[in-house]
Amino acid sequence: MNVEGIRQDLRDIRIFCGRYFPFLVIPLSYVRVVATELIPTACVDALGTLAINPRFWSTLSIEEKRFVAMHEMLHVSLCHPFRKKGFDSDAYNIAADGKVNYALRDAGIQGIIYSRGDEVTLEKISALIKIDIESLVKMSTEEIAKELEKAIKGKCGAGDLIGGGRMGKDLVDSAIDGEVVQEGDKSLTDNAGNLEEKWKRILQRAKDFAKQAGNMPAGLERLVDEVLEVKPPWYIIARMGLRNHEKEDSSFAYPSRRGDEYPGLYGYHYNVWCLVDTSGSISEEELKLFLGIIKHEARRATVYAIPWDGEAYEVLRADNPSDVARRVAPRMRGGGGTVIAPALLKTIKLMNAGDAVIILTDGEIFDEKKEETKRLFKKLASIASFTMLGYTRKPVDAPGFTNVRIDLKRRL
Ligand SMILES: [Zn+2]
Repeated sequence: MNVEGIRQDLRDIRIFCGRYFPFLVIPLSYVRVVATELIPTACVDALGTLAINPRFWSTLSIEEKRFVAMHEMLHVSLCHPFRKKGFDSDAYNIAADGKVNYALRDAGIQGIIYSRGDEVTLEKISALIKIDIESLVKMSTEEIAKELEKAIKGKCGAGDLIGGGRMGKDLVDSAIDGEVVQEGDKSLTDNAGNLEEKWKRILQRAKDFAKQAGNMPAGLERLVDEVLEVKPPWYIIARMGLRNHEKEDSSFAYPSRRGDEYPGLYGYHYNVWCLVDTSGSISEEELKLFLGIIKHEARRATVYAIPWDGEAYEVLRADNPSDVARRVAPRMRGGGGTVIAPALLKTIKLMNAGDAVIILTDGEIFDEKKEETKRLFKKLASIASFTMLGYTRKPVDAPGFTNVRIDLKRRL
């Protein structure tokens, strides 16, 4: 087994990265690497160890070796072995491969061969789950994995569906041992503390290093921030946004000391417009969730709900949560296509400057890309004090709105 050869290759690849992809220099010096013929090609195990089959390795050109090493090292650096827990293994692997390969291609590195036609790409994922590339780029690996889980549920050979190729299924669930190529940093192998947290710290350093070197591709940075910047759940964003909104509107708005659930100021009231997607693609479960959100808002505000599908329906007013159950829920009509422009237009006409606007949708909006729709999003955002778009499936290109994923499983 030519372990010394692999060691030399990895050293060369680290030097190559120093010049062309500095982000991986630090991770490459920290990672533990083993050689074993128990795996077909190369993979990352559950502990973040990089495993390489020496026979497979010897068939590769240097450009291919660079690609394989960089692909696997992105998996490790981005904490994919730890993040995939709780997901369908194939679904997560495909999502992570799509993201990693997109980032490498996006970085435009010369001297690596990244395409043999059989690798996972966002294009292939797009064709399978019917979400456009632009949205996939904005979605997190977890969000894509969830959609893939739905798409491949009950189908065997999930990896083959998308043509994982020789590098498919490279995030393995077990720990893999073999002949040691590189011991890895002591901090990673001393069994103390949480491995994911340790890799997050390495990731932060890798990002800083790449930035200092003036070479941090934007697409990669997005993937890194997916790990380092934990987004608060949507309702916290909504609360934060609405709190700012109160401050702007009233100099007497003091935040309540008893917490968020109690009114902070007597007599102060604000309006929230909730534009609820009731088109045919919205499930019962989603609609229930949307109504829950409206109820939540109605605890502190007057809610004006507008159900919409291909058209905008009547405005349903609720001054408190029980109004939502009585007046709003029974009148949620719809079931048709999904065109948002009429609902935006209606809201713009009826709302007061400074009102808050929350759009609730699965994200499948037919007129999303239309110039007129974008203009209406912008117009609405310029009048409102707070704008948020909560989606259950894919983000929406809505200028002026903060996109927030609403998790169907998360209780309010
Ligand atoms: Zn992979």
